[in-house]
Amino acid sequence: MHILVSACLLGEPCRYDGGSKPCAAVRSLSDGGHVLHPVCPEVDGGLPTPRVPCEVVESSTDARVVSARGVDCTDAYRSGARHAVEAAQREGCSVAVLKAKSPACGSGRIFDGTFSGVLRDGWGIAAAALRDVGVRVVDEEHVANLGL
Ligand code: SF4
Repeated sequence: MHILVSACLLGEPCRYDGGSKPCAAVRSLSDGGHVLHPVCPEVDGGLPTPRVPCEVVESSTDARVVSARGVDCTDAYRSGARHAVEAAQREGCSVAVLKAKSPACGSGRIFDGTFSGVLRDGWGIAAAALRDVGVRVVDEEHVANLGL
């Protein structure tokens, strides 16, 4: 199976702080014969590394992504999401394993937009775009749920 993966989970130092979040459970998927396709929607959207962290701020009509300094970065996140969808479709990925809680990659739970460490129900911009085109998205804490 071809699986789209958050690059930081494979050890790529692409996080906002210049670090990574390598995950053994994700890396071991390739041992089972699966082909992993790394993407980083924030970098692919044109944001630098390191960068000021962002969170998703939702109103009743819109979702914006705003940095901790108040800069609206929504366009970059949307561009990164388009890149992720194109990569999934090009590589034939029906499943994506994406980093939990991220404003780009989070699936189901993300930070609430107040930069206070509080989580709420919601989706990162790229994860939601992938979900909306039929890709099954899980985070690294639920790899086992895939039954692969
Ligand atoms: Fe990792 Fe996704 Fe953030 Fe890139 S955008 S650093 S892949 S969580």
